[in-house]
Parts: sequence; C-alpha cells; structure tokens
Amino acid sequence: MQRTKVKDLLTGAEVGKEVVLKGWVRTKRGNKFVNFIAVNDGSTIHNLQVVADAAKFSDEALKDVTTGAAVAITGELVASQGKGQAFEVVANTIEVLGKADPETYPLQKKAHSLEFLREIAHLRFRTNTFGAVFRVRNTLAFAVHKFFNEKGFVYMHTPIITASDAEGAGEMFHVTNFNLDKLPRTEDGKINYEEDFFGKATNLTVSGQLEGELAAMAFSDIYTFGPTFRAENSNTARHLAEFWMIEPEMAFHDLKMNADLAEEFIKYIIRYALEHNREDIEFLGQRLAEEDKAKPQNERQEMTLLEKLEFVVGSNFERVTYTEAIEILLASPAYKKKKFQYDVSWGIDLQSEHERYLVEKHFKKPVIVTDYPKDIKAFYMRLNDDGKTVAAMDILAPGIGEIVGGSQREERIDILVERMKSVGIEEEELWWYLDTRRFGGCPHAGFGLGFERMVQFVTGMGNIRDVIPFPRTPKNAEF
Ligand code: ATP
Ligand code: MN
Repeated sequence: MQRTKVKDLLTGAEVGKEVVLKGWVRTKRGNKFVNFIAVNDGSTIHNLQVVADAAKFSDEALKDVTTGAAVAITGELVASQGKGQAFEVVANTIEVLGKADPETYPLQKKAHSLEFLREIAHLRFRTNTFGAVFRVRNTLAFAVHKFFNEKGFVYMHTPIITASDAEGAGEMFHVTNFNLDKLPRTEDGKINYEEDFFGKATNLTVSGQLEGELAAMAFSDIYTFGPTFRAENSNTARHLAEFWMIEPEMAFHDLKMNADLAEEFIKYIIRYALEHNREDIEFLGQRLAEEDKAKPQNERQEMTLLEKLEFVVGSNFERVTYTEAIEILLASPAYKKKKFQYDVSWGIDLQSEHERYLVEKHFKKPVIVTDYPKDIKAFYMRLNDDGKTVAAMDILAPGIGEIVGGSQREERIDILVERMKSVGIEEEELWWYLDTRRFGGCPHAGFGLGFERMVQFVTGMGNIRDVIPFPRTPKNAEF
C-alpha cells in the first residue's frame, strides 16, 4: 500500500479508508487505555495524531516509539473525537523504522533556543520553526522561477568560478589546486598563477551580473539564481559568506522600469507564499509575537507578521532619490538629537541605522532609494547627466535594510572605460564585457535580490543563519 502524506491525510479525503503513514514521532502520551502518537513527515506544520489502543499495543510494543523515531503506521483514517485535529488514524500496525534513543536524542519536547538549534542544524529541520522556515523558502524559490518564467525571462546559469571581481563587492575566496605548502613563485617572489589550474588567479563569484549582462544582449530578459560568495568578515544578522542571489538583467530597460519590475517581483513572491504557506507563516507569526512579549514596549513590532506581509503586498513602495533621503535624515529628530552613530552628509554611504530610520520610522514601508553619488557605487552604473550621481537603486525593507541593489548599466563605452580606469580596472581584464558595448550595445538594467534576506523578511526570522540550511559564516562551516 502506498503511503499518504500527512498534509493529504489531514484533508480527510481518505476518511474511512485504511491508510499508510510514515514519518517521525514528535510526541507520545497516553494512559492505561490508549496512547496518542503525534507524527510529522515535513509535508505540513501539523502533526497527525495516531491513536494506539492499549488492548492492541502493549507498552513493550510501543517502547521504541519515542520522540524522534521514524515510524511506519497503518490504520483507519477517522474523524477525530478530540479537539485539536479534525482527523486521526486509529492504528492497526506500528513499525519502528529507526529508533531515537531518548537518552541522547537532542530534540526533546521542550522549546530549544535558536542558538542551540544552530549547533544541531542537521536535526533542526525536524522542529516546527525550521519546518515552516524551509517550506516557505522552498515556496519562495519556486515563485521566483514562476514569476520570471511567466514573463518570458531565460534562466541563465552564470559561472561560480570566475577570474573577475564584478564590483569589488567584498573580499573573495580564492579557487586553486595549488599545494599551499609549496606555492610556485615568479622571479620577483610573487605567486605564479600561470601554473595554477586555470592559468590565472580565480575566485568564487560575488555576483553573476557581468555574465548576465552578456546574455541579456541576446535574450533581452534573463535572470540568474545561484550561490554567491563573499569573504567579508561581517558578523551581522544579515550577512553570510555563502548566499543565494537572484539577478535579473533586462535589455531596453531604464532605471524606472527596473524599479517597477523589482517591486512587482517582490510583491508577487510574497503573495505566492501567503497563498501557499499561510499556516507556516501564521505559525511563524505566533512565534514572533511570543518573542515580542519578552521585549520592552518600544521595541515591539507594530504589526504581526501576516499584517506586515499583507501591507507590503498591498502598498506602493516609496521612491526617493539619495539626495532627498539625505535631506530627510538631516531634518530628522534622530539626527538633531544625535541619535545616529554615523554622521550624515551628502556623499556618505547610507549606514544600516540610516536605512532603518527611513524605512521604519519615516516612511513605514519599503523604500526605493535611487541616484546615489557615483563614488560609493560600482563602476558599471550609468552616470547621470549631473555628472555626480549614477542611476542606482537600493530597495530597503523594514527590519532588514537593503534587500535589493540594482542599477541602469552604463552602455556608453567611453564613459564606462573612464570609470573603470578611475577604480583601477584594466580594459584588457574585462575585454569581453566591453565588447557588449562595442557590438550592439543598448540601454539595459538589472538588480540583485539577496534570497536569504527575502526569506528573512517573509518568515520574520531575525538572524540570516536561520533561513539557510547550513550557514557559512566567519569561523563556521560545520555540516
Ligand atoms: P550590504 O550593504 O548589505 O552588505 P551590498 O551592498 O554588499 O549589501 P550588493 O552587492 O548590492 O549588496 O548585493 C545585492 C544583494 O545581495 C543585497 O541587496 C543583499 O540582499 C544581498 N547580499 C549582499 N551581501 C550579502 C551577504 N553577505 N549575505 C547575504 N546577502 C547578501
Ligand atoms: Mn556588502
């Protein structure tokens, strides 16, 4: 007989029938007459209650049915007598597929801290919280592909190993097959990369954008969705050394069209998760509300998670230029009362405290900031007519800060080469990139959305380490 997933059993479609159920025991409780076993198979946040009659199952028969054990159960699906669930299974047979010694199994019934669960990331999938988080992550990933597919974008796999540093975005991880104890040297003592695997120094990619641009010059609209690596030593709740990024690139798009697409995209994938993972998001919202109760009043969230997501889906993102954002900050009570740690003046890179002020205090909704000073942005962003700013856009989200970074790209080769020179990038190094400006170049634009920051936003998880299965961060690459 084929097994039915818990999610499908809970619809009651098979009520009155003999069913097969497989999964992991969450809890077992009982009395002299009957045992209740809660089984979860990861298909839903809910467990299925299995009723094991003491007349049929002795204590001895159930001794290995303990929290964490894998079980296969046959029985009849019936409408539940008790409250808490609509359906339950009255067991005929219970087989323990894999035991979990209660003395040593780390996930016991009590609530565990997220920090502790990070240390047992190989088991944390089996908790309600991480079950919900990773089901939502899965849905969001699917929605990303669905959105772009519906719009006729071509999914492009850009390389993971690269010889270029797209933007000097962060420190890079080297890729080599050198014996590190015996590095070949040139006569002047430098490492001789000509002898390395690729014949030149290579790194793990920090962004697929430059290659994405090449493909957009043929397919018009493309996107990448892949792993990205940054060896930046940022021990924050928003930075990983390995994260996933979605990078669409569109020919014949200017900055406004770029911002419109990003806004539509973000709303689409949130809406998709709300439709398909509502129970998970509700659960995560309750979790957050519990967490909030322990905080002082002024640090508590104004909206529940669901309210926040519905609000974002239903509202228009605010759009301001960088110059307007600086004016707002300079006029803010926070600035006047010297509440910011970092000073504010035209030309600064907005710090996270400034971004959060704009989003959480001033506008109280997602904000698209455009037209940043050229000196704080990457060389490929299109120079505006004022000669001082570039056609950049960052999207800032409440609780997260920067979630998207994008721009219209510089399509004018002379200006592009000039900007490359000023930041010390050799023309020869990016000859292939410059070729797209030489042969059939056109106005184009794109952006990068950090997938984990998006998952954080939708699940309400405060730490980015809790929305990727096995986080890579400074001094940590366990599992
Ligand atoms: P930040 O200022 O937050 O470090 P950034 O300016 O370095 O971001 P970009 O280079 O524009 O970011 O990258 C595009 C997107 O990738 C960001 O908007 C963010 O969502 C995400 N991102 C960047 N760095 C990281 C990281 N270390 N871990 C997770 N996501 C990241
Ligand atoms: Mn960064």
